[in-house]
Amino acid sequence: MTITQEQLRWLEGLIRQDKLVKFYQWCEWRKMRLEALERDHYECQICKRKGRYRRAQNVHHIKEVKSRPDLALTLDNLESVCIKCHNEIHGKEYNLKNKQKPFVNVERW
Ligand SMILES: [Zn+2]
Ligand SMILES: [Zn+2]
Repeated sequence: MTITQEQLRWLEGLIRQDKLVKFYQWCEWRKMRLEALERDHYECQICKRKGRYRRAQNVHHIKEVKSRPDLALTLDNLESVCIKCHNEIHGKEYNLKNKQKPFVNVERW
């Protein structure tokens, strides 16, 4: 399933207003989310790659909705993950962003 132009404009508006929470409540997303979980047999794909089994409870956008809203409903862009892995993915992103903050004094390194 792909997103329509109309849905894409709505989603871009949510991103601008920082109201993505509405996207996650949207029925079309709930449907896609379930489809991804079923495709992955409710198994965390990140744990699976590490040879572990954990039940997936979240669905992660491989390319973030904020950067690629056009892929928000694309099954290939979705991955079932457990809460722990999901926090790790987003925690890493957060750390990377913090490292790029301008107050870091590069001369110290
Ligand atoms: Zn996991
Ligand atoms: Zn995510």
